[in-house]
Amino acid sequence: MTRTRTREECAALDAADPLAGFRAEFSLPEGVIYLDGNSLGALPARTPERVRELVEVEWGRQLIRSWNEAGWFELPRTLGGRLAPLVGAAPGQVVVCDTTSVNLFKVLAAALRLRPGRRTVLAEEAAFPTDLYIAEGVTGLAAGARSVLLPSAADLDRVLDQDVAAVVLSHVDYRTGELLDMAGITRRVQQAGALMIWDVCHSVGALPIELDACGVDFAVGCTYKYLNGGPGSPAFLYVAERHQAAAEQPLSGWFGHARPFAFEPGYEPVAGIGRFLTSSPSLLGQAALGASLDVWEKADLQAVRAKSLALTGLFIELVEPLGLEVVTPRQVDRRGSQVALRHPDGYPVVQALIERGVIGDFRAPDLMRFGFTPLYLSYQEVWDAARHLAEVLESGEWRAERFSRRGAVT
Ligand SMILES: *Cc1c(COP(=O)(O)O)cnc(C)c1O
Repeated sequence: MTRTRTREECAALDAADPLAGFRAEFSLPEGVIYLDGNSLGALPARTPERVRELVEVEWGRQLIRSWNEAGWFELPRTLGGRLAPLVGAAPGQVVVCDTTSVNLFKVLAAALRLRPGRRTVLAEEAAFPTDLYIAEGVTGLAAGARSVLLPSAADLDRVLDQDVAAVVLSHVDYRTGELLDMAGITRRVQQAGALMIWDVCHSVGALPIELDACGVDFAVGCTYKYLNGGPGSPAFLYVAERHQAAAEQPLSGWFGHARPFAFEPGYEPVAGIGRFLTSSPSLLGQAALGASLDVWEKADLQAVRAKSLALTGLFIELVEPLGLEVVTPRQVDRRGSQVALRHPDGYPVVQALIERGVIGDFRAPDLMRFGFTPLYLSYQEVWDAARHLAEVLESGEWRAERFSRRGAVT
């Protein structure tokens, strides 16, 4: 058996960590090792003040004047422009609005309209189910359209034919943490004449993404995971500039109109990415996201990726001797920023860890998921978390009856 690193060695890694200073940007409770930032990111220390300012000053005192004077009307585009570097997008292609599911509905419907005569949407069976439900919903509205599930992204080449209008895939798998080859898959899909839609919920803020360089057509993602926008914070969408003039999305609300305040009876989409807007932005969520982007603007994504791989690699090294199946790929170019471990009693084991202050989560039927967020996690915390997992398994404390009661959210 190879020797695993000691806590002292982890302390040395922390002392040399170029991102260590970011920890002070977050409010985390004492005694908690937070390994669920891939599900709900931690609270940036500056967020409460920004939200309070919006509520008390912009809303409370400035009232309706804030639509112009505080930049409320432009905020979905402003935040989209600030988020764009995190997904490798030149300006004017990202907008912050709605939720991932709603945004997928919009871009998938737009993609089908851009490929008349083709009627198939391909998605992966193991995808985050909301993406599949939305694909069913969109194809159900288009005459003759259908969604087809791939057993895995590896089956793509076998199924890509003249009838495929669009392919929807997750960049990083929410369960296994597997990272797909965005450039190669996008190329193959486009060579078959179809459009490529990436869901980047589990990669944005976890690793550098190159939507422009990969020639991606559309993308959607959420902001409450690695981006730390807060619970239910607005999602975003990306539409490559070359598609914007022809792209028509079906939720044609007034915020996407060329002249929303002319109150005309007919719909005419505004030029540019703004045509993918539908309604009034939820400004409290947008304000919170703005505060978290202040932090992201200071972070170097290459350093984030390097530390992410170091943290996940350390955790895998430390838990391997426990005899659990590591479901996440060990190859660094195939791994996102989480580690999934298989255990038939994963649910109570995770609950026992949470009682010890180590917060991960569980995905049915048997995966324990641990997310690694380089901006606020230390190497010593990873070491401690692995130690707690070893103790929970060795002591059998997870067998206590209280750990098997399930809440609505796992
Ligand atoms: C988290 C997540 C979503 C969330 O969808 P919402 O509509 O924003 O609730 C969608 N897709 C993937 C892959 C996710 O990981």
